[in-house]
Amino acid sequence: MFPAAFDYAAPTTLGEALALLEQRGDEAKIMAGGQSLIPLLKLRFAQPALVIDIGRLPAMAGIGRDNGHLSIGALARHVDIERNADLPKLCPILVETVHWISDPLVRNRGTMAGSVCHADPSGDWGSVMLALDASLVAHSQSGERVIPADGFFQGPFTTTLRPDEIVTEIRLPMPKGPAGGAYNKLERKVGDFATVAVAVYVELSGGKIANAGIGLTAVGETNIKATAAEKALIGHEPTDELIAEAARLASEAAHPKDDIRGTAAYKKDVVRVYVQRGLKTALGRAKESKS
Ligand SMILES: Cc1cc2nc3c(=O)[nH]c(=O)nc-3n(C[C@H](O)[C@H](O)[C@H](O)COP(=O)(O)OP(=O)(O)OC[C@H]3O[C@@H](n4cnc5c(N)ncnc54)[C@H](O)[C@@H]3O)c2cc1C
Repeated sequence: MFPAAFDYAAPTTLGEALALLEQRGDEAKIMAGGQSLIPLLKLRFAQPALVIDIGRLPAMAGIGRDNGHLSIGALARHVDIERNADLPKLCPILVETVHWISDPLVRNRGTMAGSVCHADPSGDWGSVMLALDASLVAHSQSGERVIPADGFFQGPFTTTLRPDEIVTEIRLPMPKGPAGGAYNKLERKVGDFATVAVAVYVELSGGKIANAGIGLTAVGETNIKATAAEKALIGHEPTDELIAEAARLASEAAHPKDDIRGTAAYKKDVVRVYVQRGLKTALGRAKESKS
């Protein structure tokens, strides 16, 4: 199917892109890698009057440390994360997750920020962002806004981003002590969207869990932050009983539906098993890490 007709703009500065959004934000769509937007246009689920291709904006694809956080530019593609030489040490869960996303064709064009802005509850990055307590930096003509990932996802394909805003960067806090993460995904075949997936992150201090993050994929209307499970872990020594309790609480936070990928009850149990498994892996990695 062909998309409905639309105007196309390819600004070369952020200021130009923001001015276009200010004028026509309500009827415009930003395009980054186009890996989610173009299928929507072709199916005519989206019929914007204007597509603003931000692919030519300079200085938005960088990945690196900046003022105590890890900065991922909004135009950093999945493949840039896959191939970045520093990320296996700086934030290994990103490198583990990116391999679960589709195939090299999609990873060559799609961006992490595009994926997060798309807000597909089955998207993998959203859960990692929630587990890592990421923030999104958004620009409009009124200035800059830093939006915590927790609260960003409002519903399926819906976020708190305003029509006049462009996400320019994703910020991930750097760990304060030994840290580890894990992303476990159940999929029907290689490259498929998740039946269920779970992102887990822990930081240790003095043998106790100082910080914990758990994000759930494809088990609700949005990626879900399993807050009660996180709270249960923080401040405690990581025993088998504690891990089992956190896994139970995370499963309670999941609200999956029966579908061709499995029943709701099955998916809730996969959440429990994957949180348990992910926590054990993440804790092992935290103990091995030197930071
Ligand atoms: C066959 C196939 C399989 C896939 N499998 C997976 C998978 O297994 N797991 C997974 O997580 N994803 C999967 N995806 C989605 C893929 O990860 C996309 O790359 C991603 O969802 C969107 O990134 P993009 O840069 O292509 O965004 P685009 O398609 O360009 O944009 C997506 C949405 O985000 C908005 N947007 C993009 N960038 C910005 C910005 N900087 N500021 C504001 N709004 C912005 C757009 O307006 C649009 O609404 C798959 C896609 C395909 C086609």
